Amino acid sequence: MTPRYLFRMDDAAPGMDRSAFDRCLGIFREFDVRPIVGIVPDNRDPLLVKSGGGRDFWETMARFAGEKIITTAQHGLHHVYHRHAGSLLRRYGFDDLSEFAGLPFDVQLEKIRQGREILSSHGLAPSVWMAPNHSFDGATLKALAAAGFAFVTDGIGLYPYKRCGLTFYPVLSGKPRRIPCGMTTICLHPNTMTENDFISLRSFFAGSPRIVSFEEAIVYRPPWFAPVVNVLCRIAFFLVKTIMRLRWKPPLTFSSTAGRRQR
Ligand SMILES: [Zn+2]
Repeated sequence: MTPRYLFRMDDAAPGMDRSAFDRCLGIFREFDVRPIVGIVPDNRDPLLVKSGGGRDFWETMARFAGEKIITTAQHGLHHVYHRHAGSLLRRYGFDDLSEFAGLPFDVQLEKIRQGREILSSHGLAPSVWMAPNHSFDGATLKALAAAGFAFVTDGIGLYPYKRCGLTFYPVLSGKPRRIPCGMTTICLHPNTMTENDFISLRSFFAGSPRIVSFEEAIVYRPPWFAPVVNVLCRIAFFLVKTIMRLRWKPPLTFSSTAGRRQR
Protein backbone atom coordinates (compact mmCIF):
# COMPACT_ATOMS: atom_id res chain seq x y z
CA MET A 1 0.00 0.00 0.00
CA THR A 2 3.02 2.30 0.17
CA PRO A 3 2.31 5.14 -2.27
CA ARG A 4 4.69 5.54 -5.17
CA TYR A 5 5.67 8.76 -6.89
CA LEU A 6 6.86 9.52 -10.39
CA PHE A 7 8.19 12.91 -11.43
CA ARG A 8 7.99 14.64 -14.78
CA MET A 9 9.60 17.80 -16.10
CA ASP A 10 7.49 19.48 -18.78
CA ASP A 11 8.34 21.81 -21.64
CA ALA A 12 11.92 20.91 -22.47
CA ALA A 13 12.87 22.63 -25.72
CA PRO A 14 15.79 24.57 -27.16
CA GLY A 15 15.63 28.01 -25.55
CA MET A 16 14.10 26.79 -22.28
CA ASP A 17 15.40 28.21 -19.02
CA ARG A 18 18.43 25.99 -18.95
CA SER A 19 19.62 27.04 -15.51
CA ALA A 20 16.22 26.19 -13.99
CA PHE A 21 16.19 22.87 -15.82
CA ASP A 22 19.70 22.05 -14.63
CA ARG A 23 18.86 23.07 -11.07
CA CYS A 24 15.74 20.90 -11.03
CA LEU A 25 17.56 17.95 -12.58
CA GLY A 26 20.39 18.48 -10.12
CA ILE A 27 17.97 17.92 -7.22
CA PHE A 28 16.65 14.79 -8.90
CA ARG A 29 20.18 13.45 -9.33
CA GLU A 30 21.07 14.27 -5.75
CA PHE A 31 18.22 12.03 -4.59
CA ASP A 32 18.78 9.43 -7.31
CA VAL A 33 15.46 10.14 -9.02
CA ARG A 34 15.04 9.63 -12.76
CA PRO A 35 12.33 12.01 -14.05
CA ILE A 36 10.29 11.82 -17.24
CA VAL A 37 11.27 14.79 -19.39
CA GLY A 38 8.66 16.00 -21.89
CA ILE A 39 10.42 17.29 -25.00
CA VAL A 40 8.64 19.50 -27.54
CA PRO A 41 9.91 18.25 -30.91
CA ASP A 42 9.46 21.51 -32.84
CA ASN A 43 8.62 24.22 -30.33
CA ARG A 44 6.70 27.22 -31.69
CA ASP A 45 5.38 28.44 -28.35
CA PRO A 46 7.11 31.72 -27.46
CA LEU A 47 6.26 31.17 -23.78
CA LEU A 48 8.70 28.28 -23.69
CA VAL A 49 11.58 30.37 -25.00
CA LYS A 50 13.41 31.84 -22.03
CA SER A 51 16.92 32.25 -23.39
CA GLY A 52 18.68 32.41 -26.71
CA GLY A 53 20.82 29.39 -25.93
CA GLY A 54 20.11 25.80 -26.70
CA ARG A 55 22.90 24.93 -29.08
CA ASP A 56 23.63 21.70 -27.23
CA PHE A 57 20.01 20.97 -26.28
CA TRP A 58 19.52 17.90 -28.43
CA GLU A 59 22.93 16.43 -27.71
CA THR A 60 22.36 16.92 -23.98
CA MET A 61 18.92 15.27 -24.02
CA ALA A 62 20.25 12.31 -26.01
CA ARG A 63 23.16 11.94 -23.60
CA PHE A 64 20.94 12.15 -20.51
CA ALA A 65 18.60 9.56 -22.02
CA GLY A 66 21.49 7.28 -22.98
CA GLU A 67 22.96 7.52 -19.47
CA LYS A 68 19.50 6.81 -17.97
CA ILE A 69 19.49 10.12 -16.11
CA ILE A 70 16.08 10.89 -17.64
CA THR A 71 13.25 9.07 -19.41
CA THR A 72 12.08 11.03 -22.42
CA ALA A 73 8.49 11.67 -23.47
CA GLN A 74 7.14 13.35 -26.58
CA HIS A 75 5.38 16.55 -25.52
CA GLY A 76 3.17 17.25 -28.54
CA LEU A 77 4.68 18.71 -31.70
CA HIS A 78 4.62 22.53 -31.67
CA HIS A 79 3.04 23.25 -28.25
CA VAL A 80 0.69 25.74 -29.93
CA TYR A 81 -2.97 25.62 -28.97
CA HIS A 82 -6.39 26.11 -30.50
CA ARG A 83 -9.64 26.17 -28.57
CA HIS A 84 -11.69 22.99 -28.40
CA ALA A 85 -13.97 21.79 -25.65
CA GLY A 86 -13.69 18.08 -26.50
CA SER A 87 -10.68 17.16 -24.39
CA LEU A 88 -11.31 14.02 -22.32
CA LEU A 89 -10.01 15.66 -19.12
CA ARG A 90 -11.96 18.90 -19.56
CA ARG A 91 -14.57 17.82 -17.00
CA TYR A 92 -11.85 17.78 -14.34
CA GLY A 93 -11.28 21.51 -14.54
CA PHE A 94 -8.86 21.97 -17.43
CA ASP A 95 -9.47 24.77 -19.89
CA ASP A 96 -10.28 24.31 -23.58
CA LEU A 97 -6.82 24.97 -25.05
CA SER A 98 -5.41 22.03 -26.95
CA GLU A 99 -2.84 21.17 -29.58
CA PHE A 100 -4.67 17.99 -30.58
CA ALA A 101 -8.28 17.59 -29.34
CA GLY A 102 -10.83 18.23 -32.04
CA LEU A 103 -8.50 17.71 -35.00
CA PRO A 104 -9.29 14.85 -37.43
CA PHE A 105 -7.58 11.53 -36.73
CA ASP A 106 -5.38 11.77 -39.86
CA VAL A 107 -4.15 15.25 -38.90
CA GLN A 108 -3.37 14.16 -35.36
CA LEU A 109 -1.55 11.06 -36.55
CA GLU A 110 0.53 13.12 -38.96
CA LYS A 111 1.48 15.59 -36.21
CA ILE A 112 2.39 12.81 -33.81
CA ARG A 113 4.48 11.04 -36.46
CA GLN A 114 6.18 14.28 -37.44
CA GLY A 115 7.17 14.82 -33.82
CA ARG A 116 8.43 11.27 -33.52
CA GLU A 117 10.58 11.69 -36.61
CA ILE A 118 12.13 14.88 -35.27
CA LEU A 119 12.95 13.22 -31.95
CA SER A 120 14.26 10.17 -33.76
CA SER A 121 16.56 12.36 -35.87
CA HIS A 122 18.12 13.47 -32.59
CA GLY A 123 18.58 9.91 -31.34
CA LEU A 124 15.51 9.90 -29.09
CA ALA A 125 12.78 7.25 -29.26
CA PRO A 126 10.29 7.84 -26.43
CA SER A 127 7.41 5.42 -25.90
CA VAL A 128 5.72 7.86 -23.51
CA TRP A 129 3.25 10.55 -24.64
CA MET A 130 2.85 13.79 -22.69
CA ALA A 131 -0.07 15.82 -24.04
CA PRO A 132 0.40 19.62 -24.05
CA ASN A 133 -2.09 21.16 -21.62
CA HIS A 134 -3.19 17.62 -20.59
CA SER A 135 -5.51 17.81 -23.57
CA PHE A 136 -6.43 14.96 -25.91
CA ASP A 137 -9.51 13.21 -27.26
CA GLY A 138 -10.41 9.73 -28.49
CA ALA A 139 -8.83 10.38 -31.89
CA THR A 140 -5.56 11.34 -30.18
CA LEU A 141 -5.49 8.03 -28.33
CA LYS A 142 -6.14 6.06 -31.51
CA ALA A 143 -3.45 8.04 -33.32
CA LEU A 144 -0.97 7.45 -30.49
CA ALA A 145 -1.56 3.69 -30.63
CA ALA A 146 -1.22 3.78 -34.43
CA ALA A 147 2.05 5.70 -34.10
CA GLY A 148 3.45 3.08 -31.74
CA PHE A 149 3.08 4.76 -28.36
CA ALA A 150 2.35 2.51 -25.38
CA PHE A 151 2.22 4.89 -22.42
CA VAL A 152 0.59 8.19 -21.51
CA THR A 153 1.69 10.32 -18.57
CA ASP A 154 -1.74 11.77 -17.73
CA GLY A 155 -5.20 10.94 -16.48
CA ILE A 156 -7.11 11.05 -13.21
CA GLY A 157 -6.83 8.23 -10.69
CA LEU A 158 -4.59 6.73 -8.04
CA TYR A 159 -3.46 3.73 -10.06
CA PRO A 160 -2.31 3.17 -13.65
CA TYR A 161 -5.09 2.11 -16.01
CA LYS A 162 -5.52 1.10 -19.64
CA ARG A 163 -7.48 2.82 -22.34
CA CYS A 164 -7.41 2.33 -26.13
CA GLY A 165 -4.42 0.01 -25.81
CA LEU A 166 -2.40 2.63 -23.91
CA THR A 167 -1.40 2.55 -20.25
CA PHE A 168 -2.10 5.79 -18.40
CA TYR A 169 -0.04 6.94 -15.42
CA PRO A 170 -2.25 9.50 -13.64
CA VAL A 171 -1.10 13.03 -12.85
CA LEU A 172 -2.94 14.75 -10.00
CA SER A 173 -0.70 17.59 -8.94
CA GLY A 174 1.76 20.20 -10.14
CA LYS A 175 3.47 20.27 -6.77
CA PRO A 176 4.93 17.53 -4.58
CA ARG A 177 2.01 16.24 -2.52
CA ARG A 178 1.49 13.03 -0.61
CA ILE A 179 -1.21 10.56 -1.67
CA PRO A 180 -2.73 7.87 0.59
CA CYS A 181 -2.03 4.92 -1.73
CA GLY A 182 -1.34 3.98 -5.32
CA MET A 183 0.96 5.77 -7.74
CA THR A 184 0.90 9.36 -8.92
CA THR A 185 3.01 11.53 -11.17
CA ILE A 186 4.01 15.00 -10.04
CA CYS A 187 4.19 17.43 -12.91
CA LEU A 188 6.84 20.17 -12.69
CA HIS A 189 7.52 23.07 -15.04
CA PRO A 190 11.17 24.09 -14.47
CA ASN A 191 10.74 27.17 -16.71
CA THR A 192 8.48 28.76 -14.12
CA MET A 193 9.63 27.20 -10.84
CA THR A 194 10.18 29.65 -8.02
CA GLU A 195 12.68 29.50 -5.17
CA ASN A 196 9.94 28.08 -2.96
CA ASP A 197 9.19 25.38 -5.54
CA PHE A 198 12.81 24.22 -5.44
CA ILE A 199 12.78 24.25 -1.65
CA SER A 200 9.56 22.24 -1.43
CA LEU A 201 10.86 19.73 -3.99
CA ARG A 202 13.97 19.15 -1.94
CA SER A 203 12.04 18.88 1.32
CA PHE A 204 9.64 16.37 -0.29
CA PHE A 205 12.59 14.15 -1.23
CA ALA A 206 14.08 14.57 2.23
CA GLY A 207 10.95 12.91 3.64
CA SER A 208 12.01 9.68 1.88
CA PRO A 209 8.86 8.96 -0.12
CA ARG A 210 8.94 5.92 -2.39
CA ILE A 211 9.93 7.38 -5.75
CA VAL A 212 10.07 5.20 -8.83
CA SER A 213 11.47 5.68 -12.29
CA PHE A 214 9.20 5.21 -15.27
CA GLU A 215 10.98 1.93 -16.01
CA GLU A 216 10.00 0.73 -12.51
CA ALA A 217 6.45 2.04 -12.93
CA ILE A 218 5.72 0.00 -16.04
CA VAL A 219 6.38 -3.30 -14.25
CA TYR A 220 4.15 -2.30 -11.31
CA ARG A 221 0.92 -4.28 -11.13
CA PRO A 222 -2.01 -2.41 -9.54
CA PRO A 223 -4.09 -4.31 -6.95
CA TRP A 224 -7.47 -5.82 -7.87
CA PHE A 225 -9.37 -2.92 -6.32
CA ALA A 226 -7.51 -0.26 -8.34
CA PRO A 227 -10.40 0.37 -10.82
CA VAL A 228 -12.79 1.07 -7.91
CA VAL A 229 -10.33 3.47 -6.28
CA ASN A 230 -9.81 5.23 -9.63
CA VAL A 231 -13.56 5.77 -10.09
CA LEU A 232 -13.88 7.17 -6.56
CA CYS A 233 -10.85 9.40 -7.16
CA ARG A 234 -12.39 10.77 -10.38
CA ILE A 235 -15.68 11.52 -8.66
CA ALA A 236 -13.86 13.31 -5.82
CA PHE A 237 -11.59 15.18 -8.25
CA PHE A 238 -14.56 16.26 -10.36
CA LEU A 239 -16.52 17.51 -7.35
CA VAL A 240 -13.61 19.40 -5.82
CA LYS A 241 -12.62 21.05 -9.12
CA THR A 242 -16.23 21.95 -9.91
CA ILE A 243 -16.75 23.56 -6.52
CA MET A 244 -13.45 25.43 -6.77
CA ARG A 245 -14.27 26.63 -10.28
CA LEU A 246 -17.62 27.97 -9.15
CA ARG A 247 -15.95 29.87 -6.33
CA TRP A 248 -12.93 31.07 -8.29
CA LYS A 249 -13.12 32.15 -11.94
CA PRO A 250 -9.79 31.33 -13.64
CA PRO A 251 -9.53 27.74 -14.94
CA LEU A 252 -7.50 25.48 -12.70
CA THR A 253 -4.22 24.23 -13.98
CA PHE A 254 -1.18 22.42 -12.75
CA SER A 255 0.98 25.46 -13.26
CA SER A 256 1.69 28.51 -11.18
CA THR A 257 2.43 31.19 -13.74
CA ALA A 258 0.23 34.10 -14.61
CA GLY A 259 -1.62 34.61 -17.89
CA ARG A 260 -1.69 31.74 -20.37
CA ARG A 261 0.01 29.11 -18.31
CA GLN A 262 2.65 26.66 -19.29
CA ARG A 263 1.39 23.10 -19.48
ZN1 LIG B 1 3.73 21.90 -21.97
